[in-house]
Amino acid sequence: MSTKTNASSFARLYCSVFGHNYQLTKRVTKHVKEYTCTCCKHQLTTDVNGNLIELTPKYQEINSALERIYQNRMARLGRKVTRMAAMY
Ligand SMILES: [Zn+2]
Repeated sequence: MSTKTNASSFARLYCSVFGHNYQLTKRVTKHVKEYTCTCCKHQLTTDVNGNLIELTPKYQEINSALERIYQNRMARLGRKVTRMAAMY
């Protein structure tokens, strides 16, 4: 009986009984963050409305795009804000 038990399915079972143990793994923007369960590695993210949703490949893409935009904007903050404001 030394066959490796499927750790991830055991973890999933554990989490379904006791609940996930999410930890903040990535800060995408001020409001959007990614969380990973330390037990089963299930990932969540916050959407633009602040709801927790499953981190699907689609949202991973969205988040990495958001991150780029956010960092560019942060880098530019403090200079040439007036030009952007004029567009609105
Ligand atoms: Zn979990």
